[in-house]
Amino acid sequence: MHCPYCRHTDTRVLDSRVADDGGSIRRRRTCSACERRFTTVELMQLTVLKRSGASEPFARDKAIAGVRKACKGRPVTEDELACLGQAVEDALRLAGAAEIPAHEVGMAILGPLRALDEVAYLRFASVYRAFESADDFEDEIATLRAERTQPVPTG
Ligand SMILES: [Zn+2]
Repeated sequence: MHCPYCRHTDTRVLDSRVADDGGSIRRRRTCSACERRFTTVELMQLTVLKRSGASEPFARDKAIAGVRKACKGRPVTEDELACLGQAVEDALRLAGAAEIPAHEVGMAILGPLRALDEVAYLRFASVYRAFESADDFEDEIATLRAERTQPVPTG
């Protein structure tokens, strides 16, 4: 990594710290030419394993593309979608695995999406969990209602 001040290519690490519960590493560096200091953050590259067997780097926009469709016509803002994408990425990073099966990305979306908009959640869940009949919707709605009447434990 080159120096952001003078573009010199030789920099030295002064200090490394694990941050974000182990999800990233911050390094304090100094440039051997101009001696100015700067900080870099190293993030683990998350890889999504697709059902086809192919893998691709995790991309937040791609991950929430299905959510965006499910939110069509719902009072969900771009900001809220961005926050959801962030929450999903944070959850996946916290889980600590470098490779994530695509269905686990979907699983990580369900919780925050349900909190955001129940209609969008039902739409997304119907595609993602392959609802096959109206009964599947009724079961899911019954679960939503049952859980709404009970205080949800927070952890
Ligand atoms: Zn420099």
